Amino acid sequence: MSQEVYDYNVKCKTCRKTFVVQLFDSHEKNLFVVDKKDWFCDKCKKDYFKAETDKLVNEQKAIGFSELTGTAKSVSWGTKIREELINKVNYLKESLAFDTDEDKELSDKAFTAFFSEWHTQKDAKWWIDHRRMNVRDISGRISDITKEIQALKKIFGE
Ligand SMILES: [Zn+2]
Repeated sequence: MSQEVYDYNVKCKTCRKTFVVQLFDSHEKNLFVVDKKDWFCDKCKKDYFKAETDKLVNEQKAIGFSELTGTAKSVSWGTKIREELINKVNYLKESLAFDTDEDKELSDKAFTAFFSEWHTQKDAKWWIDHRRMNVRDISGRISDITKEIQALKKIFGE
C-alpha cells in the first residue's frame, strides 16, 4: 500500500482563517475528518492554552501561589499539574474526619504548613518533576508535618 500525504484546507473555528493540514488516511476518510473536526490554527491554539493557563494561575494566586517561571510550554504544563495536585490535597483534606476539635485544628495547621511549602515552589520544572505525586505521598508529608508540629508543641508548650 502506498503511503500518500494529502494537503487539505481547513478553517479555524475561532478566527475563520483557512490553513493547510496534512492527513494520512484515504481521501474519502480525510474529507470526512476535514468536514467534521473542529480545527484551530496554531495561533488560536496557542492563545487558547495561554488563556487556560492564565485562568488557572489567577485561581491559584487567590490561594497563595505565584506565577511559575520557565518556558511558556513548561509554565502551561506546570500550572496544569499544580492544579491537579492542589485538587488531590483538597480531596485528602475533605476526606478526613476528626474525633476532637483539637485534632481538627492540628490537621488544619499541617495543611496550611504543607501549602506554604508548595507556595515556595515557583519553578515550573519542580511541578513537572512531581507530576506523579499521589494522595498517599501527600498524606505522608502531611503526617510528617503534623508530627513536627506536635513535637514543637511539646517543647514550647501551646
Ligand atoms: Zn485561528
